[in-house]
Amino acid sequence: MVNQVLLMGRTKVVGPAGKFGARYGSTLRKKVRDILLKRYSSQQCPFCGYTGGVVRVSVGLWTCRKCGAVWAGGAYYHRTEISKYFPKVVVRE
Ligand SMILES: [Zn+2]
Repeated sequence: MVNQVLLMGRTKVVGPAGKFGARYGSTLRKKVRDILLKRYSSQQCPFCGYTGGVVRVSVGLWTCRKCGAVWAGGAYYHRTEISKYFPKVVVRE
């Protein structure tokens, strides 16, 4: 369902990366598509476990609508590979 909404007006193959038109080559657009799909898919809050409430405030800054936690993550995904290895930095307002 979510993907269908995202794909509206976009292309079948490259999805949200279809906004780049025919530019940059299909291989690169497919790579961008993988990132964008991850970025727009509902992500699970690492603090309360609620899925779908995680919103990106800014590049690398994520918040959960449910529990209000704010944390630093990846630019396009709320957890990075490297952030598995150090403790979460929590800012609660
Ligand atoms: Zn949460």
